[in-house]
Amino acid sequence: MSIRVASVSKNYKTQKALNAVSFTAEKGQIIGFLGPNGAGKSTMMKILTGYIKPNEGNVFVDDIDVLKYAILAQKKIGYLPEHNPLYTEMYVREYLQFQAAIFKVDKSQIEVCIKKVGLSLEAGKKIHQLSKGYQQRVGLAAAILHNPEVLILDEPTTGLDPNQLVEIRELIKDLGKEKTVLFSTHIMQEVEAVCDRVIIIKKGQILVDKELAELNKNNLQTITVTFNKAVNEGLLTTLPNIATIENKTKNSWNLSFKTTEDMREQVFDFAVQNQLKILELSMQTKSLEALFREITN
Ligand code: ADP
Ligand code: MG
Repeated sequence: MSIRVASVSKNYKTQKALNAVSFTAEKGQIIGFLGPNGAGKSTMMKILTGYIKPNEGNVFVDDIDVLKYAILAQKKIGYLPEHNPLYTEMYVREYLQFQAAIFKVDKSQIEVCIKKVGLSLEAGKKIHQLSKGYQQRVGLAAAILHNPEVLILDEPTTGLDPNQLVEIRELIKDLGKEKTVLFSTHIMQEVEAVCDRVIIIKKGQILVDKELAELNKNNLQTITVTFNKAVNEGLLTTLPNIATIENKTKNSWNLSFKTTEDMREQVFDFAVQNQLKILELSMQTKSLEALFREITN
């Protein structure tokens, strides 16, 4: 198991930031740690990386007890903190050399990491000359210098423009091919674009912990259909995967289905089999975004 968090609670004086949080991550998974501001995401990440201690619970990274052996565990972890502190007066390569020296990393890794995060053309520039997106790449390069097995990225895409956002997401996906990645975000679409799994946290408690494929399976699909004549409601119940049936107007129906399959063809076949003609048909799927809003509101 790459990450194992067991019943972790954390209070800041009277403020309860985490309340009995448990989850695990398998090797090679990309997990979106999703929650609104103040949910406890950064707190969980700081505990996972051994920078702060919980009041209760246990944390293991690559089966190493982080609370007992923080330094050993940190060798397995690449961490990009929320407000990534960079020495912006330094040159990119110089900064990475400096980081490599602090963490006693083999110097050959510097060029490998520069290439991996796509900084080859910027390596000779000062960090403050770079856009926010490229500064994030510098942070990512620093986080992977010691070739860690687990990457913990705290809101790596916050504050990026739409193009940079896409690029950094691609980079995270790429890094996720060889590492376990836990990254926090408050954007559901980001989870859909990048992750295998989502953990939704709110007010220090986990509300959802699911594979994305499984979550999609529970998505409701609604088809609004108008036939050329009246249909018996009982007949509509014979449609496969049908969840709810609502008569909108005389010959118009809202049909909802619990499936990942596109049900429009089935509705069309149903019409043909029952000598009906379809005058209008449209489909809406309930997005994960809507689901997230529903869960966290
Ligand atoms: P997130 O990263 O999801 O926005 P945080 O982990 O930063 O959430 O914060 C969780 C809760 O703990 C919030 O209510 C926040 O105000 C509080 N908190 C975070 N850090 C501290 C701190 N150092 N001292 C006191 N309260 C804190
Ligand atoms: Mg945070």
